Parts: sequence; C-alpha cells; structure tokens
Amino acid sequence: MILPQYDGHCGWYEVLDKVSAFPPVQSNMRVDTVVIGGGFVGCAAARRLAENRPDERVLLIEALKIGQGASGRNSGFVIDQPHKRDLESSDNDLKRKLVTLNRQAIDYLEAQIERYDIDCQWSHAGKYQAAVGPRGEKYLRHYEQLLKGFGENYETLSQQRMQAIFGTDYYSAAIFTPGGTLMQPAALMRGLADNMPDNVQIAENTPVTEISRTDSGFVLRTEQACVKCRQLILGTNIFTAELGFMRDRILPVMTFASMTEPLSDAQMQRFGGELDWGITPADHAGTTLRMTQDRRIIVRNSYRYAHDYNTPQDLLPDLRRRHRVAFDARYPQLGDVDFEYTWGGASSLSGNFETYFGEIEQGIYLSCCDQSVGAARGTISGMMLADMACGKRTDMLRNMMEVSGAPSKLPPRPLLRIGVPMRMAMARYASRSEV
Ligand SMILES: Cc1cc2nc3c(=O)[nH]c(=O)nc-3n(C[C@H](O)[C@H](O)[C@H](O)COP(=O)(O)OP(=O)(O)OC[C@H]3O[C@@H](n4cnc5c(N)ncnc54)[C@H](O)[C@@H]3O)c2cc1C
Repeated sequence: MILPQYDGHCGWYEVLDKVSAFPPVQSNMRVDTVVIGGGFVGCAAARRLAENRPDERVLLIEALKIGQGASGRNSGFVIDQPHKRDLESSDNDLKRKLVTLNRQAIDYLEAQIERYDIDCQWSHAGKYQAAVGPRGEKYLRHYEQLLKGFGENYETLSQQRMQAIFGTDYYSAAIFTPGGTLMQPAALMRGLADNMPDNVQIAENTPVTEISRTDSGFVLRTEQACVKCRQLILGTNIFTAELGFMRDRILPVMTFASMTEPLSDAQMQRFGGELDWGITPADHAGTTLRMTQDRRIIVRNSYRYAHDYNTPQDLLPDLRRRHRVAFDARYPQLGDVDFEYTWGGASSLSGNFETYFGEIEQGIYLSCCDQSVGAARGTISGMMLADMACGKRTDMLRNMMEVSGAPSKLPPRPLLRIGVPMRMAMARYASRSEV
C-alpha cells in the first residue's frame, strides 16, 4: 500500500512561522464519524459534520500534518468559475449551479477566515488568464466567448495595464475575472485545522492502513491502534484508490511549482509590477504565475503521471530548471532572484473529466477526481458529503449531485504508464510557445 510522504520541500508549508501539533491516534477509540484526509474535502467535511451534529464526536485523521498534502501545495486560487470543460457545456443551468456551489464554498471558507482571524493572505484578487502568443490567444478568445455566452463579468487588459500589474511585457493578451480569491494554501489549511469545533478531534501523522466493515459500522487500522466508527468520509484524493475505492477511475497526476525568496526593495523596483495577483495560462499546458502579498513569485508548470503518488526527489532539479526558464523569460531584470523552494503535488483527474461525489458503499461517503480545481470544489464536496451523511436533503446537496458524475473506467495501469506520459509530452511540445 502506498501512503502519503512529506518531502520537506513545499514552500508554502516551509515558510509558516509555527505549526501546532495534533497527536496521532495512540489507543483504541470509538467515535461517531471518522473523516480520513485533512485537505479541503476532509476539513470542510469534519467542520460541517460537527456543525450538523454538535452532540456527536468526529475524528479527522491525517497521514501527514494538515497542510502538507495537495491542499497545502497548490497555487492558491479558489476559483468560482466552472472548470473549462464544464464551461463549454451548453447547459447554462448546470454551469450556474457550479458557479453557485463554488461561491458557496468561497463564502464558507471566508466565514471561517474572518471568524477565526486566519492569517493566510486571503484576498478578493480575482484571476487573470493570459496568453503568450497566437496559440494562447486562440484559447483566450474561446474563453471570452464562453464567459460572454454565460453572462459572466470579465475585463480584457491592455498591454500597458498588463505591464503595470505583472511587471513584464511577456504576455500578449489577458482576461480578468473578478470572482475568485487568492490565498496562502498551507496557512489556510493550518488555520482551518486550528479552529475546528470542539467536537472534532484531529489526529495527525496517522495513516489509515485498512478499513473493515463490522455489524455496527467500521474498524480502521492505524499504526498504533484501531478506531471504530459508524460512518466514514474519505477525503483522501488520489490515495482513495489505495484504500480500495475507485481503483480504476482515478488518474493521479502531479504538477510542480517553485517559489522565489521574497523580493528586496531594489528587486521590487526592478520588477515594477503590483503585489497580490495570479495568472492561470490560457493554454492549460502553460505556466501559472503568482505574486504574493509577501513579495514572492510562484511559477507552476509541467505535469507527470504520478503512478507512485509521491514526488520523486531526483526530478526536482530538472523541474526547477524548467521553472527558471519560464521565470527568466518573464523577468530578465530579476536574474539575481533565486528560487527558495521547488515541490510537486498530486491531483486526481478522471478519464472523462467527471467528478465523483456520493455514498460509494453504505456508510462510506467520498468525493474524488476534482480535475485539479479542488480548493472550491473540494470544500463544497466536503460540506455536502457531511450533509449527505447526516441525512440533510437541501437544494445545495441536490445541486451538488447534479453537477457530479461517474468517472469512466481507465485502461490498465501498465498501459496508463505508457500512454499518459506520451500524451503529456505531446501536449508539452504543442504548447511550448505558451510556457
Ligand atoms: C502544484 C499544484 C497547484 C494547484 N493549484 C490549484 C489552485 O490554484 N486551485 C485549485 O483549486 N486547485 C489547485 N490544485 C489542486 C488542489 O490542490 C487539489 O484539487 C485539492 O487540494 C484536493 O483536495 P483534497 O482534500 O481532495 O485532497 P488532498 O489535499 O490531497 O488531501 C488528501 C489528504 O488525505 C491524506 N491521506 C491520504 N491517504 C491517507 C490515509 N491512508 N490515511 C490518512 N490520511 C490519508 C493525505 O495525506 C492528504 O493530506 C493544485 C494542485 C497542485 C499539486
């Protein structure tokens, strides 16, 4: 069984000032519901369960420390728009439901951030989508048509405006959508964990290695002890397959990021742009770029089929070089700015771009295959899994079920190990002008 490993490289996590500690499960225990996985799905599910049933005990079990998984490793966009493929659907009602659910997730996160004063660079900065040349511009025009057709607000940027915000003339076109937010993902995850309701207990550094069913519920095996529960929610992302669910449906894909050291005053002057913005690439195989509130630039690109689920450390120097090329192309004036961290993180995709959400077996609720936009999607999934587990039948839950589907069966793993890297290499080559 492959379990999550932490490699000590994730910049967002490593720059945190201090991190609280939640002890592992050390002796046998019984609770009402166990949530496995402390990412967006698991944290939202645990909180919502506790809110729905204040008299019951919830145990949130995380194999690592909360914030070390994908939810603390991403680029920090909490996106309100549907994923590109969903945006292409002609079903406007479905798209409206998706946007509404994503915005409900953003509101849920924001309510916690405000209530507990979570310091995570949360900002209503919106999102830029940018093209480098003709290939990207074509994607961008298509995106603009989709937004227009759907009646969503957006703004196109002049060259002058792009230069003023991004500090580079590298981009040929960009569109701004105002709805999404930005954040520091590891700081957000720690803040969510530190402020759980009293009836949620968190156990970190506690990988669950086995789930078995009993007459009255489930027994979970961990390194030191067993946990009994009535209900189970899995927020385990790609590792869900290792626990025996959705084995041939989850496509584990890894993407990589590098973070600079904070820019000095002199470097900021040479940079010449603004703080606190984020660009996603018009061509999905391009580069994501962020400037944080604390003057760090984050570069994300490159994909890998993550058959081994964790980041092979020997790949990182090459990925850092790729990030450097993308950085230098945008910021030749910042040749003296070093990358401080380079890391990878995994997402669960599906072959047909469908996301799973629901009760997979009696008493076991899970969501997966969020197509790498899990900050909003994972949060709303976790909330709604909790409602489903508590028997709450709301419009929000009905909408969630309507926008979810059945991930298709994937080819056998040996075929995937050949086919997926080949497709990725072809996409990388085709999109080389946009990186
Ligand atoms: C570099 C990068 C950039 C990204 N950028 C964005 C972005 O800007 N916006 C966005 O929306 N999405 C982004 N994503 C995707 C996003 O991070 C994921 O979709 C999201 O974090 C998934 O959340 P989750 O809760 O489902 O899973 P995870 O965050 O992966 O949480 C699952 C947790 O389960 C734990 N676990 C697994 N197995 C076990 C076990 N057996 N026992 C106990 N615990 C276990 C893991 O340790 C992990 O912490 C990005 C991803 C990467 C890698």
